[in-house]
Amino acid sequence: MHIILMGPPGAGKGTQAEMLAKEYAIPHVSTGDIFRNAIKEGTEMGLKAKEYMDKGALVPDEVVVGIVKERLQMPDCAGGVLLDGFPRTLEQAEVLDEVLQELKMQIDAVINVEVAEDELVARLTGRRVCQKCNTTYHVKNNPPKVRNICDHCGGELYQRSDDTVETVKERLAVYNTQTMPIIDYYKRKGNYLSVDGSQPIDKVSEEIVEKLKQIKE
Ligand code: ADP
Ligand code: ADP
Ligand code: ZN
Repeated sequence: MHIILMGPPGAGKGTQAEMLAKEYAIPHVSTGDIFRNAIKEGTEMGLKAKEYMDKGALVPDEVVVGIVKERLQMPDCAGGVLLDGFPRTLEQAEVLDEVLQELKMQIDAVINVEVAEDELVARLTGRRVCQKCNTTYHVKNNPPKVRNICDHCGGELYQRSDDTVETVKERLAVYNTQTMPIIDYYKRKGNYLSVDGSQPIDKVSEEIVEKLKQIKE
């Protein structure tokens, strides 16, 4: 199964990715997570990405595309992959197509998780992330069992520095201008699924799994 998970910041991509990666036993490849890990490790690529991320801007295409291409060639992606947060521009979508062709891979489904903008702001500003394993929580909608501690690994939760009201507004604007246009690109290609992301987390999961089953039939 090769899946692209799309949707605005805060739609629930990371949350659903966790479920999908388990359900289909495929690696979860999040470009945002790759950048945050690189920042933590203090690599040159991380330092470069951080400049853009702190402003809510996109990291330049040539940086992102190279990273994803390398990642797709790792052995664990041979049987399938779940792309989360990539592609985010038309240029990235076009280069991805070339890379997939080279690697003889095909996208089975593009899942677009749709949520209204005012709900997105509340989700992003209440988001908390495990600093060890990247699992995502929400202070109200999806709290951990013990305050500020990850259910899975016991790691401490933190708030992302780009989950402030101002940066969130900028990220949503960037999404509307730079990422929205690729929805049409994938609608034309087929295997495009739209999911109502405003439902509770488990309902969204059910809708995704149900729609993926229909595609595979
Ligand atoms: P969210 O889950 O809130 O949408 P991500 O973790 O996917 O956020 O991305 C965080 C930031 O990382 C983005 O605002 C952007 O700066 C950078 N980033 C992630 N993926 C990409 C991409 N495909 N192209 C360019 N920048 C990206
Ligand atoms: P994305 O990866 O698309 O930016 P996340 O999966 O990180 O989104 O979710 C953003 C925030 O919203 C997190 O705090 C998460 O716990 C919460 N969340 C995710 N899905 C839902 C949902 N269906 N209903 C309510 N809150 C949700
Ligand atoms: Zn954890």
